[in-house]
Amino acid sequence: MKEPPAKKNDSSVKGVDWSDFRDHIATAEPDGRRRWIYPRKVNGRYFRWRTWFSWLLLGVMFAGPFITIHGNPLLLLNFVDRKFVVLGQVFWPQDMVIFAVAGLVGLTCLVLFTTAFGRLWCGWACPQTVMMEMVFRKLEYLIEGDADRQRALNQAPWTAGKLGKKLLKHAGFLALAFLVGNVLLSYVIGWQALFQIITDPPARHLTGLVFMIAFTLLFYGIFARFREQACTFICPYGRLQSVLLDEKSIVVAYDHRRGEARGPLRRAQTAAERRQDGGGDCVACNQCVSVCPTGIDIRDGTQMECIHCTACMDACDTVMAKIGREPGLIRYASLNGIERGEPLRLTPRLIGYGVVLAALVSLLAVLIFTRADVEATLLRAPGTLFQQMPDGRFSNLYTVRIVNKTSRALPVELRLESPAGSLQVMGGTLDVPAQALLANAVLVELAPAAMNSGTTPVIIGVYAGGKKLSTLKTAFIGPRN
Ligand code: SF4
Ligand code: SF4
Repeated sequence: MKEPPAKKNDSSVKGVDWSDFRDHIATAEPDGRRRWIYPRKVNGRYFRWRTWFSWLLLGVMFAGPFITIHGNPLLLLNFVDRKFVVLGQVFWPQDMVIFAVAGLVGLTCLVLFTTAFGRLWCGWACPQTVMMEMVFRKLEYLIEGDADRQRALNQAPWTAGKLGKKLLKHAGFLALAFLVGNVLLSYVIGWQALFQIITDPPARHLTGLVFMIAFTLLFYGIFARFREQACTFICPYGRLQSVLLDEKSIVVAYDHRRGEARGPLRRAQTAAERRQDGGGDCVACNQCVSVCPTGIDIRDGTQMECIHCTACMDACDTVMAKIGREPGLIRYASLNGIERGEPLRLTPRLIGYGVVLAALVSLLAVLIFTRADVEATLLRAPGTLFQQMPDGRFSNLYTVRIVNKTSRALPVELRLESPAGSLQVMGGTLDVPAQALLANAVLVELAPAAMNSGTTPVIIGVYAGGKKLSTLKTAFIGPRN
């Protein structure tokens, strides 16, 4: 493989070691040990905008479980009862096709958006980044100070002061993790169930308590220790960058044409003189590296670890303002934008993704708007065959499951339409409560004259308010002639 050209070694920043540049990540020592990252506090316009946006997102996240639409929560993913609510609309496992198409819509959106704008999601809206950078990291700065003081504290011998700070920080982290874990749990079981777990005697909700503790420890572990490794080791989205991004994608990028050759600023040198000497706008101050929460140097180019948090953009803009240069040496730009001044363009790839997305969204809309209000399934009762009645007729036992997706209770009626015979709902009636699933036993009786040898096809109509909602087909088992 051809070696890239050696970089001019005229800066205080460690040059790229091309022999191992892509061989290990920034947060690991070459021997595999963890390299702890101490990102410096950052300030600037992007950080301010991200802070406001994060407050909005956190507000929605914490208020979400309490917001209801038509009496249903905004979002509920109850895997235990297999009941899912999105924007107040209840979905059941029977709506699996809708979930599958919605998943494809989400995936296509992600692909389209990432191809055009890189990892904008990661930096601005990903819960991991928002919680880490806007909540946990801020608490850490508050208790232990900025990066240098944190590093010094970690290297200092154990004293009462150090112990106090560490205990305070980790107690704060645990409290935050408990809060976050409980909010997420309320998206699974609903806030009412969560409130019951909190207020009832612990012995009555052992499973719930185990989940609460597990969620708390999980989030504590992620934000106190695991941190940026979640983005670089675990999250598959980061790994997808290499196939989704191209030279036209807008990413957080260092303008190498403007910045190189980098080198320290000399006091007496004017901008024009520096340019004439072949110097670029990068003064090799390393500020962009020191604020990076994933420990990378964006001047080495787009990297998998970059979560587009904009910290390096703010840090560099501050430096540029101090030395009287234009901001934007590190900015949102594409490689083509930097090299040829090309703006974001609609490429055939983006158009292709857009067409696929439009088709999937249309399909999803059709599926949602034509979704049946009631869904019924009929299965033979497990472990049963047929029985002969004293009058000579034969009977089969079935289990009917009816999902009522409407917000009103529905009295459902089953009618045996073919062949002639009788159908009896055990327990009398099928009154299905609103947004609930009802399972009941159903007995079908056929006279020998109406039966085939062995298996007889049976058709049952499902009615509500005299209106036919659906047709169920099943088999009736009888003796072989
Ligand atoms: S902050 Fe800007 S000037 Fe300083 S090293 Fe980074 S790119 Fe260069
Ligand atoms: S390179 Fe810049 S945008 Fe990317 S993670 Fe580091 S600080 Fe954030």
